[in-house]
Amino acid sequence: MSDVTAVVKAKGAERWKLGHPWIYRSDVVEAPRDPGIVRVTDRRGKFLGQALFSPRSEIRLRLLDRVDTPIDAAWWGRRIGAALARRGTIDATAYRVVHAEGDGLPALVVDRYGPFVVAQLLSAGLERSRDDVVAGIATALAPDGILLRNDAAIRRHEGLPLEVTPVLGTVPEIVEVKEYGARYLAAPHRGQKTGAFLDQRENRALAGAHARPGGRALDLFTYHGSFALHLARRAAEVIAVDSSVDALARGRDNAALNGLTNITWREANAFDLLRDLERREERFDTIVLDPPAFAKTKDSVTRAIAGYKEINLRAMRILAPGGVLLTCSCSYHVNRGVFAEMLGAAAQDGGRRLQVLAWIGAGRDHPELLTVPETSYLKGALLQALD
Ligand code: SAH
Repeated sequence: MSDVTAVVKAKGAERWKLGHPWIYRSDVVEAPRDPGIVRVTDRRGKFLGQALFSPRSEIRLRLLDRVDTPIDAAWWGRRIGAALARRGTIDATAYRVVHAEGDGLPALVVDRYGPFVVAQLLSAGLERSRDDVVAGIATALAPDGILLRNDAAIRRHEGLPLEVTPVLGTVPEIVEVKEYGARYLAAPHRGQKTGAFLDQRENRALAGAHARPGGRALDLFTYHGSFALHLARRAAEVIAVDSSVDALARGRDNAALNGLTNITWREANAFDLLRDLERREERFDTIVLDPPAFAKTKDSVTRAIAGYKEINLRAMRILAPGGVLLTCSCSYHVNRGVFAEMLGAAAQDGGRRLQVLAWIGAGRDHPELLTVPETSYLKGALLQALD
């Protein structure tokens, strides 16, 4: 029970009723000065719930609990434990335990890398509860170490500093983890996101299962070889491409860790390389396209779609007859419908007939909430060339 109160307009209260945890600045009538956990009421003083309050963000309130109960270390421990239980068994030692709004714990990300935890506190209100949150993680997961990767750019909207802070034990620079039989090295301190792209784990296994035995595979935007490791277990040859030398270096280590010698690592701009491969009429049986978010804002969607279309069109053209293309977009601003339409246009222009084997999304440890569209960002398709 917080003793600090915020008062919201009917429109703000309505959002909570409709299953969305955010109340914006314009719907807040009264609020304290400092960030933290607040009791929220309507104008008549009726209690609506407890929320994280951010005085500087457009998203002022994020719902934590509709009940007037103490939100302390034990509360966080229970909520994180419940999120863990929802994951059931996952065939990996690295996965997301708490996916913020998707798990009803706004602004909190908790990722597990073997015995270590990497967490992100992404709102000013949550930052105030840091000690309780860390204690909750420790209770629910009993890790050997906890690192806060609080260097995500969105913390700037909250007026928070960007920093990487160890808060329990020691988390090593490199941690070896395993997913569906493939081993890889994650980099919790310096790697992208919290050290790896955990959201693609299930799609990596899917791509591996569709790699043609003895065939040729291409993994574009490979990062540290994530898809390539799975493709290489079946394909005769894999070309793994990224523009980051650091990521590729870890990719080579990952291949060695798995005893794989059939991956060729190429530092290149994927756009240029695709053009080149098309000109040389090269063919691949399996292609993975996992680019970074081309649309970072609403305004860049048109340009982003042109970029997605270009790489997909070229990938389709160099796909062997009967070949499989796994293609994705992690741009929140490019929704599933727009993405599917773009793929259709690329197939038309590329002159290929492609069958949809599956529409795909983020792994089940990155849950989406139907009433919170912001939790849906990663979408993709598994396609097979008919001829
Ligand atoms: N497939 C990876 C994640 C890829 S993230 C996984 O499952 O783990 C996107 C990657 O694209 C990053 O590693 C980034 O270095 C790389 N990248 C960004 N722009 C690029 C470009 N134009 N050409 C090649 N790689 C690029």
